[in-house]
Amino acid sequence: MKIAFIGLGNMGSGMALNLQRAGHEVVGFDLSEAARQLHAERGIRIADSAQNAAQGAAAIITMLPASQHVEGLLLGHDRQAGLLEHLNAGALLIDSSTIAAATARRVAAAAAAKGIHFLDAPVSGGTAGAAAGTLTFMVGGSSATLERALPLLEAMGKNIFHAGDVGAGQTAKICNNMLLGTLMIGTSEALALGIANGLDPKVLSEIMRRSSGGNWALEVYNPVPGVQENSAATRDYTGGFGTDLMLKDLGLALESAIAARASTPLGALARSLYAAHSLAGHGTQDFSSIIQLLQENAGQV
Ligand code: NAD
Repeated sequence: MKIAFIGLGNMGSGMALNLQRAGHEVVGFDLSEAARQLHAERGIRIADSAQNAAQGAAAIITMLPASQHVEGLLLGHDRQAGLLEHLNAGALLIDSSTIAAATARRVAAAAAAKGIHFLDAPVSGGTAGAAAGTLTFMVGGSSATLERALPLLEAMGKNIFHAGDVGAGQTAKICNNMLLGTLMIGTSEALALGIANGLDPKVLSEIMRRSSGGNWALEVYNPVPGVQENSAATRDYTGGFGTDLMLKDLGLALESAIAARASTPLGALARSLYAAHSLAGHGTQDFSSIIQLLQENAGQV
């Protein structure tokens, strides 16, 4: 199947490569020249625009930073027509970015008007999961469209959940990321406390991992450099999930909480802490660098 893959960043990179490994004809596009060059070197056919990548594609997958990028690309901006205008009726459009559920519903409605089948299919599992093809997909849309998309999703992921109608995948994703954002702060706080009291972070991490505090951050995403060989922390907080992306997701969670009159006190506090961390210049670093905020504060007290 010919697949257009738009957005070859930290996540899109591994996902596009896995689709190609599964035997699909992948044509990629990214606004960044560096990303285009890197993926051409990795053997992915690169187009010179999103429109050319999507030409004649049976499926189009987008993996972009935020709502405004997805909306701008697909629906258009500054009086420029969006990509939807150039897609054939019957095409399958899968957006795996984490965006507002309302934006996903807007794009789905515009796609449906052109006979294009849309799914919101955000993911969890990090860049390691994207590279290994073990992502979790949280899908919103019709069962029939999901059935059509399954072979593609299975080439990139291990667990595929149907969360409900269009937008439901995004809602599930922000609930998960609100939990992850708070979990990373809690884990960082506990590790910083142990380190400040003279404990070896490797030893403390292993104790908590095997105890009642055990969680995903301690398993595969330790925030202390050097504790895990393949963590973003050990790579100087690069190549993972950016602080600004976590900040965006916690903002989406807060908006959903306000709309539904839900109480999310820890999510709101977590958003403020990542915002302070971003303002201090760490927006593009991996979100696990939030431990530095806690350690810097501890040093000042
Ligand atoms: P990223 O910033 O590394 O990659 C996004 C890419 O999109 C960039 O290369 C950028 O140049 C490109 N882009 C932006 N606008 C474009 C456009 N109009 N046309 C073509 N390319 C465009 O981000 P990422 O870490 O890959 O995350 C992508 C999405 O996945 C985000 O919504 C993020 O919240 C979500 N996500 C990320 C992770 C993670 O661990 N990094 C995990 C789960 C979900």
